[in-house]
Amino acid sequence: MVVVAREATAQEPQCDRERAAMVETIRTYARSDASVLGRQGPSERVLEAIGRTKRHLFIPERSCSIAYANKPVSIGHGQTISQPFIVALMTELAEVAPDHVVLEVGTGSGYQAAILAHLARKVCTIEIIPSLAETATKTLRGLAYENVSVRLGDGYAGWPECGPFDAIVVTAALGQVPPPLIEQLKVGGRLVMPVGSAYTSQQLTVVEKTAPDKTTSRAVALVRFVPFTRSKE
Ligand code: SAH
Repeated sequence: MVVVAREATAQEPQCDRERAAMVETIRTYARSDASVLGRQGPSERVLEAIGRTKRHLFIPERSCSIAYANKPVSIGHGQTISQPFIVALMTELAEVAPDHVVLEVGTGSGYQAAILAHLARKVCTIEIIPSLAETATKTLRGLAYENVSVRLGDGYAGWPECGPFDAIVVTAALGQVPPPLIEQLKVGGRLVMPVGSAYTSQQLTVVEKTAPDKTTSRAVALVRFVPFTRSKE
């Protein structure tokens, strides 16, 4: 972590500029595709959180030119961080408020969790690949994200001890929303997840829990995510 911090310091002003440019790209992209968010695009609050989150410190190369292009980035083990616009879109759709407790399934690099940490009171995030969980834990700890807890495991079952949740963000694709996640969502809460086959594109879906046993669901955009895998136990 010390070496990373030193490397990062040397390129910091350039990285800051590239990150600010990425935020502008997200803004422009949202305007050109107004159908997706239907409104003015991501809120200033979400854009500010993205502007404060150092994406280059979450990717293996630590390269700003790679980190701040509006593209997905590989994080090893066949996994990727989504394109920044999709990260912004999912964060916006989750409607996270400062007093919220949020669950993320699919920690990956920890980047999305870090953005959520700027917006919520507490973030709990689950990752199924041990080395990704370990690296994300170290990265988040190194950057002093104290309101994020990372757990190794299959996120299908959620994390009841950490909830109930005001918002849930799932960053891997599955044919249906895991029922335990709906159970752990508060009434009035939202779950955002790519629903569909892992090997084609999926519908980015927003599920709202309107009563203890009632949800409404809407498909927002066509997206392409890595598969949601299940542990064998
Ligand atoms: N949100 C991440 C990127 C997610 S890529 C980031 O910001 O970097 C999707 C992640 O979901 C991968 O790391 C993958 O290992 C993880 N994943 C897939 N199935 C899972 C499951 N059942 N439980 C927890 N994590 C899972």
